[in-house]
Amino acid sequence: MIIFKEIAALRAYLSEKEQIGFVPTMGALHHGHLTLMKESLKHSKITVCSIFVNPTQFNDPADYEKYPITIEKDISLLENIGVDVLFLPTVDVLYPNGTQNLETYDITELENLWEGAYRPGHFQGVCQVVSRLLDAVLPDHIFMGQKDFQQCKVIQKLISLKNLSTKLVQVPTVRETTGLAMSSRNMRLSETEKTTAVTISQVLDYIKSNINLLPISVLKLEAENKLSEQGFKVDYVGIADADTLQAIEIIDPARNVIAMIAAYLNEVRLIDNMLVYQAPSN
Ligand code: AMP
Repeated sequence: MIIFKEIAALRAYLSEKEQIGFVPTMGALHHGHLTLMKESLKHSKITVCSIFVNPTQFNDPADYEKYPITIEKDISLLENIGVDVLFLPTVDVLYPNGTQNLETYDITELENLWEGAYRPGHFQGVCQVVSRLLDAVLPDHIFMGQKDFQQCKVIQKLISLKNLSTKLVQVPTVRETTGLAMSSRNMRLSETEKTTAVTISQVLDYIKSNINLLPISVLKLEAENKLSEQGFKVDYVGIADADTLQAIEIIDPARNVIAMIAAYLNEVRLIDNMLVYQAPSN
């Protein structure tokens, strides 16, 4: 695996390559990340992974400070599965003029819904970094996890704003055998907290099992209560149109429905989602 720290050298190397697959990450790699890499390896001639903990997407400075960093382990995991290129920039490389007063992107209502509402500025930060990474890598495909469902929508919008031909491939969420969605933030959970954290996926399963049986308002309330009873501080339980992400009150049988949860377990903010209704033709 070749490691690049500078954009010019990376560009020079990639300029002669075809069918480039790209997996942007913030490191602290787990099996979920590696599944994205494997998808890229399957569908591309060259797979580029980036590891960069992007300061501009953290609305909470403490979350940025505590973000886990395991770079030596990450490098050996990437080498083991055969990733071709690792892009490992510093903040100065991606933001040579600093991280203040950066450009903004018109991501429409995605800016203010769900994660956007609870993490002001987060998606602008995500766009700022992914825009720079896309310019540096110019991939044919970018592989992203359904785990960050709204982020996939934001990046799809970014790709169209930038008029790029890059195709976004959304990879299903990889879970522990318990059902807990894999996440770098899980490293910050104690064993007891990990057991409690399983409640999130159980609640999503519950919503899915009952989506046609109970009113959505009731399901939402029950879900919030189940989480609160286990000690979570709930940011939101959203039951929404899987395309527009607008909250719904009743199901339109022709449209997919996504349930999304964001909740704190003590200091750690966890998110997860599940397709809870699939329209027959979709
Ligand atoms: P992160 O390092 O958290 O920024 O994540 C990098 C990429 O990995 C994003 O596209 C995430 O959606 C994806 N990802 C994170 N966790 C999972 C998971 N459990 N399953 C699938 N993809 C994931």
